Amino acid sequence: MSEITNPCVSCGACCAHFRVSFYWAEADDAGGPVPTALTEPLSLLMRNMRGTNDRAPRCVALEGDIGGCVSCGIYEQRPTPCREFSMSGEAGIHNEACDRARARYGLPALFSPSLPVMTESYAAAGARELSEHVQSPG
Ligand code: SF4
Ligand code: SF4
Repeated sequence: MSEITNPCVSCGACCAHFRVSFYWAEADDAGGPVPTALTEPLSLLMRNMRGTNDRAPRCVALEGDIGGCVSCGIYEQRPTPCREFSMSGEAGIHNEACDRARARYGLPALFSPSLPVMTESYAAAGARELSEHVQSPG
């Protein structure tokens, strides 16, 4: 049986394209899971992952080379937007934001109506669930 590879582990584009912002109380100084040292204040009620609000965004927790081998250094502690962001094509659903982030790094779009079975297999294999990085800097 051939091994199924999750495209996220050789991508990481969304971690270096969007501003990753979340409610301040998700940080561990307020009892949440996210290491405060890896965040910065964004507004009175919001924080963002350090590095993601820069002109050339890249989350400080992202390890590896985009489009190569990547991982999240705080995977179990990542904030809500990262938990909710879906790989494009997962369960047959297009995520334009995923494909847009990939395009920035010259990576092909993942969604194709002909691929729902394959992408459901990725999810079943424990696909790394990245989340909703909904805001671009600038
Ligand atoms: S969710 Fe999309 S952009 Fe993010 S790492 Fe996975 S494939 Fe890449
Ligand atoms: S998944 Fe991890 S590396 Fe990517 S943006 Fe979220 S915290 Fe940063």
